[in-house]
Amino acid sequence: MNTIMNGWFSEICPMWRGMALSVEIEETLYSAASKFQQIDLYMTKTYGKMLVLDNIIQLTERDEFAYHEMMAHVPLFAHPNPEKVLVIGGGDGGILREVARHECVRQIDFCEIDPDVIAVAKRFLPTTAKGFDDPRVTVHIGDGNAFVNARKKSYDVIIVDSSDPIGPGKALFELPFYKALKAALKDGGVVATQGESFFIHTECVDNLTDITQQLFPVQAYAYMLVPSYPGGHLGICLASLGPKLTVPARPIPQEIQQMLDYYSPEIHQASFVLPHFMTKRSKEP
Ligand code: SAM
Repeated sequence: MNTIMNGWFSEICPMWRGMALSVEIEETLYSAASKFQQIDLYMTKTYGKMLVLDNIIQLTERDEFAYHEMMAHVPLFAHPNPEKVLVIGGGDGGILREVARHECVRQIDFCEIDPDVIAVAKRFLPTTAKGFDDPRVTVHIGDGNAFVNARKKSYDVIIVDSSDPIGPGKALFELPFYKALKAALKDGGVVATQGESFFIHTECVDNLTDITQQLFPVQAYAYMLVPSYPGGHLGICLASLGPKLTVPARPIPQEIQQMLDYYSPEIHQASFVLPHFMTKRSKEP
């Protein structure tokens, strides 16, 4: 399907039938198929550079900070002392950039299935890809599902920055993967996964909620505003083996807060306040 017409890219996808966000394009900077997916990188008129995988927008330079800050800092500040962190997916490096702001973190394992996404990010998206420069980061190329299954009681925090549940990310939204995530957490560990849109992917959100409520003693759903994602927002499915999720477990150092544009202790708590139809999707004692 030709998704660029008259200079406008339209995000047409069966996951949001009958609707599509359109973004005006100035130039195609990269376009090639990797072993796993079609990778496109555009310069847009008003959103800066935009990374698209299999025709689905992954990030834009203008609003990526909202997603990356919330996906990283909500689980990291919910944990009292995260030292060992695993990031799955997120080949653009944006989550790594945010995790690396935490001095208490001593080791960051990173597992991405598609090395071409990392290469494109390093070439075209230096602001997010700078996350790879941190010496605490070890890059593993491979399937995040297999990686997690091979680790037991290893991590304080796991962040799954997956693409949508079509293509290589499908297994990352299913029960066996969440069982493996739980087993890979240390006692008191926290996990955060890409939680889709509660307006548009209700079935998927319900499924993630059911799975995490079934497996974890503490579970909660948060969201952030990101104009370039379907519906203008995206959820975070969070679960823990102990820590409360909805309030930060430690104060945010002033030097971190000064670097951030979206996350704050106030937005941490506010992000869990859901519309009434969503309130049944949280289980926190
Ligand atoms: N949250 C963003 C979104 O939904 O638009 C995701 C951005 S990030 C670029 C998603 C990354 O997950 C991609 O680089 C993709 O290659 C990676 N990915 C997908 N399936 C994966 C898997 N099974 N294991 C590891 N990484 C995976």
